[in-house]
Amino acid sequence: MTTEHQGTTRRRFLAGAGGAVGAFALWPDTAAASTGKHVAVLGGGVSGLSAAQELAERGYTVTVYEYYDVLGGKARSMDVPGTGTGGRRALPGEHGFRFFPGFYRNLPDTLRRIPFPGNANGVHDNLRGGTEALFARGAGRPDLHFPLRRVTTPPAPGDITPSWLRDQILSVLDLGSRLPAHEAAYFADRVLVHLTSCDARREDQWEKTTWWDFIRAERMSEEYGTLLGVGQTRNLVATRAEIASTRTVGRVIIEALLLWGLLGRGMDGDADIDRVLDAPTSEAWIDPWSAHLRSLGVAFVLGTEVREVLCEDGQVSGVRVAARDGGVERTVTADHYVSAMPVEHARRTWGAALRAADPQLARCDALQTDWMTGVQFYLRTPTPVVHGHINCLDSPWSVTGIGQAQFWDVRNFSEDYGDGTAHDCLSVIVSEWDKPGILYGKKARECTREEIVEECWAQLKDALNDSGKTVLTDADRLGWFMDPAVTGLGGPDPQNREPLLIHPTGTLYNRPSAGTAVPNFFLAGDYVRTDVDLATMEGANESARRAVNALLDRDGSEAERCRIWELYRPPEMEPLKRVDEVRYRLGLPNTFDLG
Ligand SMILES: Cc1cc2nc3c(=O)[nH]c(=O)nc-3n(C[C@H](O)[C@H](O)[C@H](O)COP(=O)(O)OP(=O)(O)OC[C@H]3O[C@@H](n4cnc5c(N)ncnc54)[C@H](O)[C@@H]3O)c2cc1C
Repeated sequence: MTTEHQGTTRRRFLAGAGGAVGAFALWPDTAAASTGKHVAVLGGGVSGLSAAQELAERGYTVTVYEYYDVLGGKARSMDVPGTGTGGRRALPGEHGFRFFPGFYRNLPDTLRRIPFPGNANGVHDNLRGGTEALFARGAGRPDLHFPLRRVTTPPAPGDITPSWLRDQILSVLDLGSRLPAHEAAYFADRVLVHLTSCDARREDQWEKTTWWDFIRAERMSEEYGTLLGVGQTRNLVATRAEIASTRTVGRVIIEALLLWGLLGRGMDGDADIDRVLDAPTSEAWIDPWSAHLRSLGVAFVLGTEVREVLCEDGQVSGVRVAARDGGVERTVTADHYVSAMPVEHARRTWGAALRAADPQLARCDALQTDWMTGVQFYLRTPTPVVHGHINCLDSPWSVTGIGQAQFWDVRNFSEDYGDGTAHDCLSVIVSEWDKPGILYGKKARECTREEIVEECWAQLKDALNDSGKTVLTDADRLGWFMDPAVTGLGGPDPQNREPLLIHPTGTLYNRPSAGTAVPNFFLAGDYVRTDVDLATMEGANESARRAVNALLDRDGSEAERCRIWELYRPPEMEPLKRVDEVRYRLGLPNTFDLG
């Protein structure tokens, strides 16, 4: 356990920063004395930038090496080339929309410490709460609106309209008629089993059990499997319910996100369950962050590919790098090295000598990734759909989405972006690339880029244009964008440079710790072993904190350690968990586990 980082806070005058002259902001005093030590951070995504900030604040000289010409990794937003006219910015594109659940604690702490003009709490003040999730059903079935407010907060007066009420009643009745009561009761019992399981059982029995088996989805109705199996796994984190670790799904999605989120326990202050930024990610967060890091002295070497982390005599001796598009290789050196690349790239840079120095690096070869990529649709009319995220439960490609303009209250979409005709961006994500679609009958991986877009649109319409409503029309669609990281679509060997770590059973055992057996080599990234244990921006941030703490320990530093928040542990469950610990040691099932 680490101690809280307690940088002193002071008022600073933001003179001329981003046009907000005269605004005051509070952020930690960052004028740390130099340690005289240099750290090379390999990768400029959330984990790399988080590590850079913590190190720079503690007096380290930091250089970040990043493959792309821009920072932010999978979290960044990007311009759609050639779309901004008349002084407007280009239309905003992204790898996939960003959601900052209220149970995140580590990342929000970093957001508070990134100054933003006019914001008392830095970039954190750019978060906006969503109040509903829409579980959109296909083939004419009524959609389920799920209130994402804490149960203690009643709906606002204007939110309850007659048609909203009618939809609620219809969807609950529809669900009730298809989800048998005994199945719902069985699921509730399974949640209770997980809630009261001790840590040792979670890390052993439940880590080895798939979510599908844990909730006995095979024996239940199709509705049960769709809603409580696939809908909570594939659609949210790209892992198939049939292989997903029960420990990961149970702890993070069912408990931290939904259960404790709805009860308002363990949250980031009075945060909503669902939060998004008030502008494209790079504008609201990544650009101010890199500016802040530069002000702390962090140097960025962009467009640079890390090719190999060199190891001699059990120590990292340097890193072989080259310009992304080729060019002469060179070796860069530092006192310490933090690898902050995603696992599928990082492990390619670990040569035989480095792997021999720490066996946990070779275990990373067993970690798996899968495709999860976004498509943005630019629309002529504002199309909020719901005040939060959309989960198209019956879509074969596990499509999810969000109408973004409604949350971008510091922007006027048509005045600020594109050629003035687009009024909204419906940003969606395809999480299932291996099942046939409804339009062409092909898997996403087999489709051309254009076919993916048309198929995605068709699945959205199937989910949203029903129950007498027409939410999306072809005439309203102006254009689309899909991340260029996916290449070769429609050809024999499509590639995705930015897949996502998935969580099959046993993943926990192959996750490496942030500190390695190599004294000057540390790991950050969403695949590193963290308490949150889910490939997210929160996990990336927590891993960076752990990497920096390990580095400080190695250096014998007296600097404050980075604070690490762990997932909420309900005190009411602790006595039951203690009973379960005894039962687990005796080889008995959990008290509530009736099979
Ligand atoms: C479609 C999608 C939607 C998501 N939505 C959410 C969400 O809503 N909320 C959430 O919390 N998480 C979300 N995630 C997960 C989240 O994006 C990641 O877990 C997180 O961004 C990982 O950060 P990272 O720093 O570990 O890796 P990355 O973001 O991948 O950053 C690593 C960086 O290393 C660079 N790099 C790679 N190879 C090299 C090399 N050889 N040399 C130099 N640099 C290199 C990359 O270019 C990149 O900039 C989503 C993921 C996807 C795919």
